[in-house]
Amino acid sequence: MSEPSPPVLISESAIDARVRELAREISDDYSNGDGIVLIGVLKGAFIFLADLSRRLTIPRTIEFIAVSSYEDSDVSSGAVRLVMDVRGNIEGRDVLIVEDIVDTGHTLSYLIGMLESHGPASIRTCALLHKAERAEVEVNIDYLGFGIGDEWVVGYGLDFVEKDRTLPYIGVIDPND
Ligand code: 5GP
Repeated sequence: MSEPSPPVLISESAIDARVRELAREISDDYSNGDGIVLIGVLKGAFIFLADLSRRLTIPRTIEFIAVSSYEDSDVSSGAVRLVMDVRGNIEGRDVLIVEDIVDTGHTLSYLIGMLESHGPASIRTCALLHKAERAEVEVNIDYLGFGIGDEWVVGYGLDFVEKDRTLPYIGVIDPND
């Protein structure tokens, strides 16, 4: 027997509508520049990045970066380690970091500092989800999809130990089950 699907927190249509709004806002804000570099944080941001990037109306290139975070558990150590850096040259470019979710803020804060050392013209941040009540370090999210509570979410790129990553909606699970 297959397991029941996680309950819906944010539906597929709500995500789609919000991604379109974010893409419009980002396209407007950068309309006078010569395009942006979207840097997706693997693995969780890959679906959000795919949808967001296709809705933009400004020139854009895509890069990926990978960090180690929760090491197959749901407990954050706060320590972030770079696993894969960007391949392309981002010096002098307008960079938009695209994250799936900001929890304690350690990952995004580390990434901003790390990417600044590559000498971009600017860095802004975009996250689909934010758990404001779990914040440990202050980090600015320029473009935010949805604020959520302190719960473990899966789907739309987000997993629990590699499970449920390709659910079309954001669902909630109890990681202790
Ligand atoms: P932070 O460094 O902000 O504490 O954590 C960011 C990372 O933790 C995210 O990129 C994501 O990989 C992971 N994370 C935090 N909360 C959740 C969650 O509810 N679900 C999933 N799947 N990953 C999460």
